[in-house]
Amino acid sequence: MKILLVEDELKVNRFIKKGLEENGFFVEVAFDGLSGVRMACTGLYDLILLDIVLPKVSGLEVCQQIREAYQSVPILMLTALGTTEDKIRGLDTGADDYLTKPFHFEELLARIRALSRRNNLESDSVVELQVDDLIINLDSKEVARGPKGITLTLREFQLLELLARNKGRVLSRVVIAEKIWDQSFDSGSNVIDVYINYLRKKIDSGHDKKLLHTVVGMGYVLRE
Ligand code: CA
Repeated sequence: MKILLVEDELKVNRFIKKGLEENGFFVEVAFDGLSGVRMACTGLYDLILLDIVLPKVSGLEVCQQIREAYQSVPILMLTALGTTEDKIRGLDTGADDYLTKPFHFEELLARIRALSRRNNLESDSVVELQVDDLIINLDSKEVARGPKGITLTLREFQLLELLARNKGRVLSRVVIAEKIWDQSFDSGSNVIDVYINYLRKKIDSGHDKKLLHTVVGMGYVLRE
């Protein structure tokens, strides 16, 4: 699970990062609101820990901008401000939960677990993804285009699922590499292009209507 921590106080940032890493989380950090928004909008994170009082762009604004970019990632606000009004403002801008500093680390861990559970339950309630006549069953792992079944390898299935969950949205190679292979490839690697070609042959060849498209210089998109 990848967490983005946006916190400007160096000591607090280090403390939280270290604690989370000791509990098996992968953590990346930002020290101001501007880089916080930029990093959050890459879509690479499973959860965002967000301080409210930040340089450049405030946490409330960061939260708002993330939601305006249609990112549904869970956001947990961390702040020293603890009045009811502050909490409501935080939740109004699209935060999912709120934790007042100072807090016990165990409580932070409990909130993170609760948010990720909620998020997983929501995404797991979707059993079937559909793009035009292409149907992907997430339970049985069966894929079909029209009446014809398609056999995919595990990696191909994961790649197709990622593209279908983001139907109509262009995904860059970096995002695909991080989500499917859990690492960044060096830019010279063509692993993703190779897998895209395998997938394209299986789902598009023999069909007049193509679903998997290359957007030159940007990435790949699955669309009707
Ligand atoms: Ca701060």
